[in-house]
Amino acid sequence: MRHNRIGFKMGIVIITLFLIVLVFLGFAIDRMFTNFYSAEMQKETEELTSHFTVMANATETTSEQTMKTFAEFSNVSIINILKNGKVILHSGTHDSADNAFIRTSDLQKIFSGEKVSLLYKDPSGNGYFVSGQPISDNGKITSALYVMSSTEQMERSLSGVRNLLLLSGIGAFLLAMGITWIIAMVLSRPLLQMEKATRKIAIGELEIRLDIKSKDEIGSLADAINDLAMDLQRYRDTRQELFSNISHELRTPITYLEGYSKVVKDHLYETEDEKERYLDIIYEEALRLQHLVDDLFDLAKMEEGKISLVFERLDLSDLVEHAVRKVELKAKEKNLRLSLDISGKAALVHADGKRMEQIILNLLENAIRYTEHGSIDVHVMYASTKVTLVVEDTGIGIPEEELPYIFERFYRVEKSRSRQFGGTGLGLSIVKMLIELQGGTIKVTSRLKEGTRFEIYFVLHPEMEEGRV
Ligand code: ADP
Repeated sequence: MRHNRIGFKMGIVIITLFLIVLVFLGFAIDRMFTNFYSAEMQKETEELTSHFTVMANATETTSEQTMKTFAEFSNVSIINILKNGKVILHSGTHDSADNAFIRTSDLQKIFSGEKVSLLYKDPSGNGYFVSGQPISDNGKITSALYVMSSTEQMERSLSGVRNLLLLSGIGAFLLAMGITWIIAMVLSRPLLQMEKATRKIAIGELEIRLDIKSKDEIGSLADAINDLAMDLQRYRDTRQELFSNISHELRTPITYLEGYSKVVKDHLYETEDEKERYLDIIYEEALRLQHLVDDLFDLAKMEEGKISLVFERLDLSDLVEHAVRKVELKAKEKNLRLSLDISGKAALVHADGKRMEQIILNLLENAIRYTEHGSIDVHVMYASTKVTLVVEDTGIGIPEEELPYIFERFYRVEKSRSRQFGGTGLGLSIVKMLIELQGGTIKVTSRLKEGTRFEIYFVLHPEMEEGRV
């Protein structure tokens, strides 16, 4: 398991990369030093050889002994050879029997006035920088002088450099290991926390929250997990609330149905009128149940996003006129005045006709339901960019502090009030959702005992305007 950790995998990758870079770097530095030293030593040997030849050329009096002393002093071996290969002078630590480095081609070059340089390793493994130059007498090349400078000193220095490189490489490697380990820990700790949190969320522990404050991708992932937990928690709570509301709402009509049908079935009434009253209650409660089931069905479809709206170009004033006509009778039964007023240059809206009628009817039915006397006024007002629909009543009104909640599911002002009027508490939440799904907005203002005013706005698109007033 440990080996599958992201920190471990990342550490391995970083360390491997680091090692590769380190090895290449070390190799390059070693090459650089070796080449530099070799070039310097070769140059030095050539310069020394020049000194020797100048010495031999300049004075006839330079004795072999002086050359030998100078060679000893310079820590080099010298060999002076005639054209026929005969060695006329040899000094230094180099074994005089070993002359494998003297090649005929080099000798030819030297006797034609050129200089030669080479690197030579003797049979016992000792390395030498060799430089060969001509010695002349009165302008005539008489012999070739080879100077051999041991590479031992250079190899000792190089091995010192290599040891230093190795030590700093090991140090850098250990440092990188430490830093990588820390980074891996820092990176993987929040990931492990998130893994634990999501597992807890999966088993329903939705109260869990992550406390990761970083502003990077890890921080935003933690925020997303917190949001998810919060949403799920809210969803669970509202679902529980919804279930208890639904069962409560169903229980009440069912209890009425059960009770009154038993009364009728067992003939527990005294007059026919009484029986009729009970049957009316049964009918009303059955209707209410039907209404509730329809509303719940609509709500469920909307919440799942499964409601399919059929958008078309609509004449809103036609729809409103139609709806007003439908509720006219109800208003008359309660002695309420119902008026409709359309103003402005009419235009078409882009909406679902059936749903739009449902919205208008719902507002009109609420207005009639919660108004005992007075009037219900409906206005359709067209402006250049929007159309406003107003449904205003002189009814019982809604207390100001309750206004923000009336669009919530099952929310009822004064709890028993709408039941007494036959409502389900779902109407306005469905109205709001339907309006928003069609791109509109709804607003409510109300004064207790004075009346309520609902306003709906829809945007008019210029290309939909129609030349009708
Ligand atoms: P219901 O189906 O119970 O009427 P709604 O969602 O349509 O449920 O309305 C929510 C609550 O808002 C109602 O219980 C009612 O108290 C209040 N309400 C809605 N419309 C009006 C209105 N025109 N006048 C006064 N109160 C209203």
